[in-house]
Amino acid sequence: MTAVSLHDVAFSYGDLSVVDGVSFDVRDGEFLGLVGPNGSGKSTLLKLMLGLLRPDSGTVRLFGEPANEFSAGERVAYVAQDATKTVREMPITVREVVRMGRYPRNLFGRFSAADHAAVDDALESVDIADIADRRIGSLSGGQRQRVFVARALAAEVELLALDEPTVSLDSESRESFYTLLSDLNEAGMSIVLVEHDIGVVTAHASRIACLNKRLYFHGPPESFVESDALAAAYGANQHVLDHTHDSHARESSERDADGVDAADDPADSEAP
Ligand code: ADP
Repeated sequence: MTAVSLHDVAFSYGDLSVVDGVSFDVRDGEFLGLVGPNGSGKSTLLKLMLGLLRPDSGTVRLFGEPANEFSAGERVAYVAQDATKTVREMPITVREVVRMGRYPRNLFGRFSAADHAAVDDALESVDIADIADRRIGSLSGGQRQRVFVARALAAEVELLALDEPTVSLDSESRESFYTLLSDLNEAGMSIVLVEHDIGVVTAHASRIACLNKRLYFHGPPESFVESDALAAAYGANQHVLDHTHDSHARESSERDADGVDAADDPADSEAP
């Protein structure tokens, strides 16, 4: 089974073409790291994958259905870039946020014992049971990200999509968050992760897709690190790889983002 399938996808905001000719699949059980310079279309492609945007041309399938008609919301969770910011201001507890994960399964009914058990299990799995009754606004960034993952776990989703989830975390919290994602992936959850930090994503993902409007690479992390795709997609800044403690990486990818042109002939090691 394929979680997401992209075929020759193109998308523009008005006259601005941001995704062009992109084709690849995310197979069930895969951990895909979606990388590329700032402004290269990663967030847009993630939204296309989830059916939140409709492609101008090409097709996007989510668990076999056209993504923008996808109806099985309980199979997918999306942690948007600004998710923690929005929730931070809400006067709700950790447990209440995690319980939201059960809503798609409980549109009309009362919470069952199984729902409560799923919430408890999710809190335990990401190691936040001890803070379940705290207000979400009082947590650290790392704790808050765990709450979102717990919500996805309580929802028992098959695919977890995250857009730069660790951008505000220190390197220790980031490392433990990625270890958590790796554990979930090993337990069978498919993951698509937008991440600017190439070092951290190549260490944890099982597949890399490198984007700069076009797809420059799709394949295993080891091949990506050795390929020319990184240099081609990032312009002169292939040294981002050298900085796994990524304030430098972030700076360099941001600095260069605007000046990078998409290459004419993107390499795709696994092009169909
Ligand atoms: P990334 O996630 O790689 O930083 P995005 O997908 O956010 O890239 O953005 C790709 C390009 O599309 C950028 O030039 C950005 O400014 C532009 N863009 C993103 N969202 C919108 C929008 N809602 N309207 C118009 N342009 C947008």
